[in-house]
Amino acid sequence: IIEARDVVLSFGQTPALRGADVAVNAGEILAVMGPSGSGKSTLLHCLAGILLPDSGEIHFAGRRLDSMGEAERSTLRRDRFGFVFQFGQLVPELTAEENVALPLLLGGTRRAEALKQARTWFGRLGLDGLEQRRSGELSGGQAQRVALARGLVNRPEILFADEPTGSLDSLTGEQVMDLMVTVAREQGTTVVLVTHEPRVAAYADREVIVRDGRVHSLAAEGIGAERIGAERIGAERTGS
Ligand code: ATP
Ligand code: MG
Repeated sequence: IIEARDVVLSFGQTPALRGADVAVNAGEILAVMGPSGSGKSTLLHCLAGILLPDSGEIHFAGRRLDSMGEAERSTLRRDRFGFVFQFGQLVPELTAEENVALPLLLGGTRRAEALKQARTWFGRLGLDGLEQRRSGELSGGQAQRVALARGLVNRPEILFADEPTGSLDSLTGEQVMDLMVTVAREQGTTVVLVTHEPRVAAYADREVIVRDGRVHSLAAEGIGAERIGAERIGAERTGS
């Protein structure tokens, strides 16, 4: 459904992506792993049409995202993509339900209708009764579930999640992941999930690893793992 081909992007003198290739299938939950600074967030921002590559191509639903104008890309992001980031980034002046309704309101949905649709998410995500709270009056896990509801409220084709549980303790993080994956599978939403926690990546259908601005499939990593396994067997044989 979305694909990066040979994407190169530098921030000034700092190369962030050096020929990144990745293709995400429709309905798939893809975990993007890799060390800090390897280019995971930059890759996600390129796929989502937030950043434009210096060279290379981004294909979405048969079209070139990187050659669209900013107006068209922002409409596409608003209507067809959803986003969840590490720190929910809720608007503090708005209530929880207004925060969830935001993508719909920005897309021109009438306020009453947008709030009605927003409220349907509260029960589903275990947030009943918190509709009128401001973000400062929510726990970290609650705020992150509100951010998740906001990411899903426009029923996106692709949900881009960058360390969505990174600010939470592991139990709360697991609950948020469970909800995200359950809803994504129910709706057939494709998810691009950036994380450096293997426990979080375990929720995905497939994992890729970003190293030094390039994407490696886990199959290639698996060869390494097999080799280690073979060495171990070899060592055992030698030992016996
Ligand atoms: P983390 O796991 O810490 O979030 P990451 O894999 O998401 O790391 P990126 O944020 O994609 O890494 O950064 C890749 C490289 O680009 C790093 O060297 C980083 O310092 C650099 N970089 C990222 N954003 C910017 C920016 N706005 N300006 C300058 N350099 C940047
Ligand atoms: Mg990052």
